[in-house]
Amino acid sequence: MSIDHDVIHFLDDENDTVAARELVWRLMVIDDEPDVHRATTFALSGVKILGRPLEFLHAYSAVDAVEQLTREKDVAVILLDVVMESEDAGLELVKTVRQRLKLTELRIILRTGQPGYAPEIETIHDFDINDYKTKSELTRTKLYATVTAALRSYEQIRKLDQLAFYDRLSELPNRNKFIDLCEDRLRVAPSQEDVIAILDIDDFSEINDALGHQQGDRLLQAIADRLKFNLGAEVILARIGGDTFGLMGTAIQLDPTQILGLFRDAIVVKDDSMIVTATMGLTNQLGSAILARDALKDANIALKRAKKTRRGGFVMFSAEMGADIRERVGLLQNLRQAVESERLFIVYQPQVHLASGKLVGMEALIRWRNEDGTFVPPDRFIPLAEASGMIVPIGDWVLRMACYELVRIQALGYPGLRMSVNVSQVQFRHPEFLGKLNAALQDTGIKSKFLELEITESVAMEEADFMLKTLRMVRKMGISIAIDDFGTGYSSLSQLRQLPIDRLKIDRTFVSELSQDVIGGHIASMVIELGRNLNLTVIAEGIEEEKQAQTLLKLGCHEGQGYLYARPLTAIQLREWLQSRPSGQ
Ligand code: C2E
Ligand code: MG
Ligand code: MG
Repeated sequence: MSIDHDVIHFLDDENDTVAARELVWRLMVIDDEPDVHRATTFALSGVKILGRPLEFLHAYSAVDAVEQLTREKDVAVILLDVVMESEDAGLELVKTVRQRLKLTELRIILRTGQPGYAPEIETIHDFDINDYKTKSELTRTKLYATVTAALRSYEQIRKLDQLAFYDRLSELPNRNKFIDLCEDRLRVAPSQEDVIAILDIDDFSEINDALGHQQGDRLLQAIADRLKFNLGAEVILARIGGDTFGLMGTAIQLDPTQILGLFRDAIVVKDDSMIVTATMGLTNQLGSAILARDALKDANIALKRAKKTRRGGFVMFSAEMGADIRERVGLLQNLRQAVESERLFIVYQPQVHLASGKLVGMEALIRWRNEDGTFVPPDRFIPLAEASGMIVPIGDWVLRMACYELVRIQALGYPGLRMSVNVSQVQFRHPEFLGKLNAALQDTGIKSKFLELEITESVAMEEADFMLKTLRMVRKMGISIAIDDFGTGYSSLSQLRQLPIDRLKIDRTFVSELSQDVIGGHIASMVIELGRNLNLTVIAEGIEEEKQAQTLLKLGCHEGQGYLYARPLTAIQLREWLQSRPSGQ
């Protein structure tokens, strides 16, 4: 029998024939004396144990037994002669059965002709041997009792395994079992053709909430059945999470377009008929001794990518994705160290009144300098800090440092300047955010009207109710609010009208368009008009040329910020810059 066939046979068993097989108990007699075989079958002939008849298999040597046990499935009990080819052939076989063949459910009854060959207690314990008997003890009644006890324990172990390795709802293998099955297949029959995939039901938690959990369960069951039915027995299929399925098979069997196509028809579950979609992540990089667990991680990276960019579709894992993730993980570790060794600092970029050129405030911008003097741009590390939650302590620190800096600047004789601090969504959502804001004001003693928070347009529009509440509270404290990167999101006028805000910040991409002579027709001009209509101050960021400043001024923009006036400056540079300006500016 070829190895491939063996795997298929094994998978067949897992899915189809277990139920049929379990109607009998399979017992294997392993003994080099034909008489013992005859005596055993005779003693147990015609009996039913725990409601089922017995089926006998016969092996006449340890080698023979190993060969048969590799092939035959669902053998419940072996009656094993200790002394066969050699004095310890039986005990060696026990080791093979437990360690190499991994038949842990199988029950073992040892038999020996002479009492002197009893194994050590530790051996009985370590190899999970059920019983040890001399052959003379195995009369019909005793044999019956011994086998019954062994079968009872076999059944219990199977039930426990069922609980530990199978999902009760779908009756599919669970995550652990899936990893085991994939591991076996990778080891026994590695193939270039194979892929491992994860299939995730889109928006399942919403569906579950809408339908109720019972219907949700039925839906999952129906999906599992549909997959089972269509994928066939050669594919390893498992439920590896609430709404995720693990699959392993050949690239042809797991063609994602076909599998996702299985969701085209509505799924009918008790009175409800619904269309659900799924997203898949796959990996075909199963070569060079990869572990199933790692392959599953790769498939998961691909799945995450698909969820972001191709919902309802699929993404195949590539080495570049792994590198990308590893790089991000490395960066995050470095960021942690940077925080600890205080390699983060803040720069301040002045903001001016366009018509008069007077300084009105500054924006605090974070910087990260590596040990080798190079900088990591905030656009790269802020998203990471957000994803990992590190932005909360980092943002808190920026807020405090910026407030302290404002105190120092005010003390130098600039009482009316405002300090703008960027706040990310994660910070905003944090339950202690308002408390921390208050504490920063209290501890530094700055007046709230000199503090401004910048939130990006997309953040302001997300979860409108929650944002509205929080923004109102911030406003109530006397702190002003600017919408950053305005024009890049999709806010509607009615949404914008509701927000308690003070300032719109035109994104610098729209400012850079202003180098041409045309007035009007630009996004910048629309934003300015919008802001003025809503009685908001409008500030343009990224002004690099005088011409842009002039155009913005003509369009009615109030304030500006950019390299034309000043680059972001360190605290020391900022003080020098301030003192070099003519007074009153
Ligand atoms: P942002 O809030 O829109 O900041 C403006 C960005 O424009 C800054 O980039 C600034 O250096 C740059 N900039 C200013 N003037 C000019 C100009 O004339 N020309 C050009 N080409 N660029 C100009 P930076 O410092 O790289 O910051 C990038 C983004 O990182 C910021 O965009 C902000 O969203 C985020 N960020 C920076 N610091 C913090 C922080 O402390 N907390 C949070 N949550 N986000 C921050
Ligand atoms: Mg900003
Ligand atoms: Mg901006």
